[in-house]
Amino acid sequence: MEMNAEIKALLLSIGSANIDEGLLHEIAGTTIPSAGPGAGLESFFIKSGGHRVRLSINKKSPLKVVRCCSDIAVIKDGKPIVTGRLEPALSYCPEQAYLTISGRCIYDCKFCPVPKLDGEVKVPDKILQLVEEAKNTGQLRAISITSGVEKSTEDEVRKAVEIVKILRARYDVPIGVSVYPTDTSSEELKEAGATEIKYNVETMDPQIFAKYCPGLSLEYVLSSLKEAVKIFGKNRVSSNSYWVWERAMSVF
Ligand code: SF4
Repeated sequence: MEMNAEIKALLLSIGSANIDEGLLHEIAGTTIPSAGPGAGLESFFIKSGGHRVRLSINKKSPLKVVRCCSDIAVIKDGKPIVTGRLEPALSYCPEQAYLTISGRCIYDCKFCPVPKLDGEVKVPDKILQLVEEAKNTGQLRAISITSGVEKSTEDEVRKAVEIVKILRARYDVPIGVSVYPTDTSSEELKEAGATEIKYNVETMDPQIFAKYCPGLSLEYVLSSLKEAVKIFGKNRVSSNSYWVWERAMSVF
């Protein structure tokens, strides 16, 4: 029973699953994201039928992941809805070192736990160590850098630029960066060696954006995305949301 687009959409709409402890211990890659809406939640990946889905671990989820022969099955309402295999993650994402610089944020997006976490702010040496660990698995194919905003957006971009320069000097893999934009972030990050840039668009609805992302500007993020395409090129810029990106492209 392989995953298809419909089942994938169902899993993503629920977003979490209750998983046997034993299975959890088998996937060494189960990690705790430290920035973004998934922060603080352990998560894991299921791969099936050419699809891959990340689910957070929630004992109260209507989905249950159990062992099924050598694979796993996802049970909903007492019936298996898909089989697949659990996939180890390097740091948050399979085959990707996904690292957070600042696990804290001065903003207060209503859906995001980061401002309440007061998480670690990683120095470049720590980031390097984690990427090196990922490389040692032999599976590293890309590096993703993300960050909350510890002091200011400018300071966060400065930190990201410094780290990208260090990583680019050592690793010949694509490096993607997701930060809140500044007037010069695209130019600076491109020059530092970043391959792709991501400026999050939490919602395209201006009223909802203003209500749920106080202090951030939808207009500024959209204009920054537009400018970033000129610097990074086609297919190297994203909003971290496919449906939003499609709408954004129609605006541009
Ligand atoms: S900018 Fe918003 S979504 Fe991003 S880390 Fe800060 S509070 Fe969370």
